[in-house]
Amino acid sequence: MAQALVLERRGELQIRDIQVPDTVGPHDVRIAIHTVGVCGSDVHYYLHGSIGPFIVNEPMVLGHEAAGVVTEIGSDVTTLKVGDRVCMEPGIPDPISRASRLGIYNVDPAVRFWATPPVHGCLTPRVVHPAAFTFKLPDSVSFAEGAMVEPFAVGVHASVRAKLVPGDVCLVTGSGPIGIMTALAALAAGAGKVFITDIAAEKLEIAGQYAGVIPVNVRHDAARSAVDAVCGADWGVDVVFEASGFPSAYDDALSCVRPGGTIVFVGMPVGKVPFDIVAAQAKEIRIETVFRYANVYDRAIELIAAGKVDLKPLVSATFPFEDSIVAFDRAASQRPTDVKLQIIL
Ligand SMILES: [Zn+2]
Repeated sequence: MAQALVLERRGELQIRDIQVPDTVGPHDVRIAIHTVGVCGSDVHYYLHGSIGPFIVNEPMVLGHEAAGVVTEIGSDVTTLKVGDRVCMEPGIPDPISRASRLGIYNVDPAVRFWATPPVHGCLTPRVVHPAAFTFKLPDSVSFAEGAMVEPFAVGVHASVRAKLVPGDVCLVTGSGPIGIMTALAALAAGAGKVFITDIAAEKLEIAGQYAGVIPVNVRHDAARSAVDAVCGADWGVDVVFEASGFPSAYDDALSCVRPGGTIVFVGMPVGKVPFDIVAAQAKEIRIETVFRYANVYDRAIELIAAGKVDLKPLVSATFPFEDSIVAFDRAASQRPTDVKLQIIL
């Protein structure tokens, strides 16, 4: 038994003892959890009890954005040792599945992902995890940054899916945590400049503190006008990353992408959204989709360690484990000045 932050049912959190998987297999490591980020999906399960087909039917430990220290290694583990500071990729696929063999293990139907029902998450002092999905952090990367690798990996994966080319001009619709991290990943991947939209001035101010990011408040300005004012009319941006899931953002994406450009769907709308197929055809754009990430954790860590991206300003507040419920209630209140809240164990 171990203490954990348990979502008992929709709207009810408790810190209590619960039985979580504890056997260290030959290819596993045991990790003492240090820092866990609160993610929008954790909060969504707390408030709504489900995301799409994933329904919380029994008590579940929350949390999937984690960094910690290796305390025990399985008999066949050679890549890590006790005392290594690490972060963990929270999705464990079936290694011999067809998807895994194709390198697209993130869309393996059998993937088991932390804090996605019925799989327990990592807001608990110790977890057991496959060494293959546990990544050593360089000394220069803090636990706080290590726990940010998970959401940042989504942004890195989005740039990979975009086939980003050096000097690309990009637009990110939505300045939430994923939108900002997608913008930073694009810049680190070689984008020349990145416009980012939102209707919350506070979020745009946080995004706009980074060199190369141009905030656009779409409450007051049309996204396309803002792009044209900087880039000149009649062309648009090379890549649009849609990171809001807001229905109106799909029109912004179509109006801002250049002929032959690319739109990457990163954000997940809560329901079906209208999308102007003919507008997409008239520019013959390429459309890519993103589901979490695959094969980018090492690259994300490399970019942070190399100083190509600074995620530290995005940690808005840190809470001790005992105050986890306070942290979740604050995340649920959606302060526009909060990007990432973290819990320290
Ligand atoms: Zn997350």
